Amino acid sequence: MCGIVGYTGAKSATPILLEGLRRLEYRGYDSAGIAVLSEAGDLHVRKAAGKLENLRSAVATLEPAGSVGIGHTRWATHGRPNDDNAHPHSDCSGDVTVVHNGIIENYAELRDELSARGHVFKSETDTEVLAHLLEDLLPHATSLGEAVRSALARVSGSYAIAVVSRHFPGHIAGARLNGPLIVGLGENENFIASDIPAILRHTREIIVLEEGEVADVGQHKVVITDLAGKPISRAPMHVDWDPEAAEKGGHPFFYVKEIVEQPQSLRRALLGRVQDEAGKLTLKLDALDHLAASGALDGIRRITLLGCGSSVHAALLAKYAFERWARVPVEVCIASEYRYADPIVGPDTLVIAVAQSGETADTLAATRLAREHGAPIVAVTNVVGSAITRVADAVLYLQAGPEISVTATKTFVTTTTVLYMAGLWLAKHLGALHDAEMRAELTALLAIPDQMEQVIDRYVLPDGAEGPLEAVADRLAKSQSCLFIGRGPACVVALEGALKLKELSYVHAEAYAAGELKHGPIALLDPQTPLVAIATAGRTYEKVISNVEEVLARGAPVIAVATDGDREIGRHASHVMTVPAAPETFEPLLAVIPLQVLAYHVATRRGCDIDQPRNLAKSVTVE
Ligand code: GLU
Repeated sequence: MCGIVGYTGAKSATPILLEGLRRLEYRGYDSAGIAVLSEAGDLHVRKAAGKLENLRSAVATLEPAGSVGIGHTRWATHGRPNDDNAHPHSDCSGDVTVVHNGIIENYAELRDELSARGHVFKSETDTEVLAHLLEDLLPHATSLGEAVRSALARVSGSYAIAVVSRHFPGHIAGARLNGPLIVGLGENENFIASDIPAILRHTREIIVLEEGEVADVGQHKVVITDLAGKPISRAPMHVDWDPEAAEKGGHPFFYVKEIVEQPQSLRRALLGRVQDEAGKLTLKLDALDHLAASGALDGIRRITLLGCGSSVHAALLAKYAFERWARVPVEVCIASEYRYADPIVGPDTLVIAVAQSGETADTLAATRLAREHGAPIVAVTNVVGSAITRVADAVLYLQAGPEISVTATKTFVTTTTVLYMAGLWLAKHLGALHDAEMRAELTALLAIPDQMEQVIDRYVLPDGAEGPLEAVADRLAKSQSCLFIGRGPACVVALEGALKLKELSYVHAEAYAAGELKHGPIALLDPQTPLVAIATAGRTYEKVISNVEEVLARGAPVIAVATDGDREIGRHASHVMTVPAAPETFEPLLAVIPLQVLAYHVATRRGCDIDQPRNLAKSVTVE
């Protein structure tokens, strides 16, 4: 998830691009770069790995002059976060340069094809193929927009891009497909950006490009077409957000923004991995294919998943899924415990280290220990080139974009989804699932992002309205303590829901397997201590209802998360939050959302710091 900005007008482009990037840095900070077209028609590119500060220093010594340019702040997906892989990426001749947010799925084939035609690549990124494709197309094009459309016709994947070329001075072009991009209209100047904050100081007249649209942006004129070249006319909208609200996409906190981003994060995680080949869904995880080809998985008899915090919860969901699909024994270990537990681990144990930041000290130490014992290691992380990737034999990236709020939301659901894909891959590798079963699982998984959108529409309402959650939040905000229960995968939803509530609102919350209540915790319940029951449809629904009845008999109020169409639950629970029906394995990805939102509303009532709860840090680099 990178940040893109572009400018064409009469002013000096560099300060405008740098200021835009400052506002976009929250979208990624692996590297930053700009390209400016000079009066003389030369493209000057400056880029630097690391935070924007490094680019500022590079530019301070020699500021590129010119009034047309593009800029980028990177969140790496393909290629390490270094100078060479920083955007913008240029062609061989220096005629055109490109910035990109997203993933070009067929970049490897295109790279081979272009290399065979004599193009020389300077980076490891997927993005660079676009520059070389454009190099061949631009001499024959009648506009920058036309060349961009022809180049995009060759690529599959997701993108928001900005392009500047010596062939069409005064123009920048932008296009989007599953990546955000807007055009800003000014007086004698126009802009492109990933989102509104980047250009809000200059204009409030915004055109939001739709999927599959291309904008050819000149100083005085903007031409928008679809990918086939059909003209599109769209009136700009006027934006009256203040700059700070704009950075959070109009949401009051990054936490809320990141909840809303979850469907998109999942789509990115699935992209290029679950593919539709001639009407049949297939799963492709290159990293695991390579690992298998090396023979490292030949003697695997068991799997150990390592993590901390919400990563452990994602791993617990994976355990249910892996064991069901692949019929291999799976254990989930808290990394800080694993190291001192004298673990049984060796070449017959596949260790999957789960760490969104890739820097969690306990997970790193536990993973190193497993490695010393000869276990093959797969890392699941959101951060390209992070420490965990250097300990691993194979890496599965979340591709979720940066998560700013300390409390995990989109990285939790994306980690879970990536682990599900790993579980399905493993089941296939071991011959444990038939093709038809595999396709059924993939079809259900692919439907989840749309279903998540339905849940978000229900519970994240415009202007912060609370709707069905208002009464529940009132109830919990007044409580000292509450319990969460569930069975099977829904028990993990209870664990994650309780963790969200604790972290955000400081209300004491504990989660238990529903059947365990009567073995102790039920003693805690009284009319002041609510119970949150995850009672989604599934094999154990009736049992959970029985557990709820045991609680009601003790006078405790019951709040439930249930599946759409459940007529029974209203008889047992005073408040019900519903989610669409999905297979039991995937249902947690939906059921967790109302609990994320609920924790937020409870925390708001109690005056808590939403994005930076007390005592917490995003990446825990101490043991
Ligand atoms: N795939 C591009 C890169 O790794 C863009 C990354 C992104 O948008 O997250 O440089």
